Amino acid sequence: MGGFSYKDIYIEDGRSVLEVNILPEKNCNFDCIFCPIGRAQNKVDTQKSFDKMDSSLRELEKKIENTKAELIFINSKGEAFVNDKIDDIVDLIKGRGLPVRLFSNGYLLGKDEYMKIANKCDEVVGELKVVTEEDFQKAQRPIKGYTLVEYISNMVTFNKQYKGKFIFEITIIRGYNDDEKSIRKIKNIINEISPDKIIIARMDDKRFEKKLGIPDERFVEISNALLNI
Ligand code: SF4
Repeated sequence: MGGFSYKDIYIEDGRSVLEVNILPEKNCNFDCIFCPIGRAQNKVDTQKSFDKMDSSLRELEKKIENTKAELIFINSKGEAFVNDKIDDIVDLIKGRGLPVRLFSNGYLLGKDEYMKIANKCDEVVGELKVVTEEDFQKAQRPIKGYTLVEYISNMVTFNKQYKGKFIFEITIIRGYNDDEKSIRKIKNIINEISPDKIIIARMDDKRFEKKLGIPDERFVEISNALLNI
């Protein structure tokens, strides 16, 4: 096993999107208890080499040609920045004249070396799932020394200097951030980060939906409150 994997091409806002995962297995700086990919053996926030990268880059080039994709979305099994070929991947896509959207949990966006890579992308997605330090440590189980305060300030720092479209995805999770106090906190965080677009999501993975899912009515209420600030 190794190399990149792809989702079937789909249309979003009239554009055909090619979604590519550039990590052969989970490599993340967090180990969230609700991670859809599963448990991480080792958490990582430095770059490393993966097998089959040359052939994967050639394959990506072919896919771009064959699918006539209009946007390439790098959405990986974990944190895409840790693939040491990410810069080449972004350059390859940009070299074909196509826009790139990069998904990150957002923690590394404050680090210079990763910020430079993200700055080359037309769209960057960062996310938020919990709003207290305790929940961050317990539910997202990040690398030792990470804090929620730094997490948010990394995204704030990034977006202050970023010229592209910053998309902030907030997942509403029952028992973690669905109460009024949390919603007020999230509003403040949105104001601090000042994203270009907000996406409100909820746990839709069947394994976690029963325990962490939000009923439709409450989800609509929270979405309206957060999207209309
Ligand atoms: S940040 Fe995303 S990929 Fe990483 S452990 Fe959490 S849910 Fe999984």
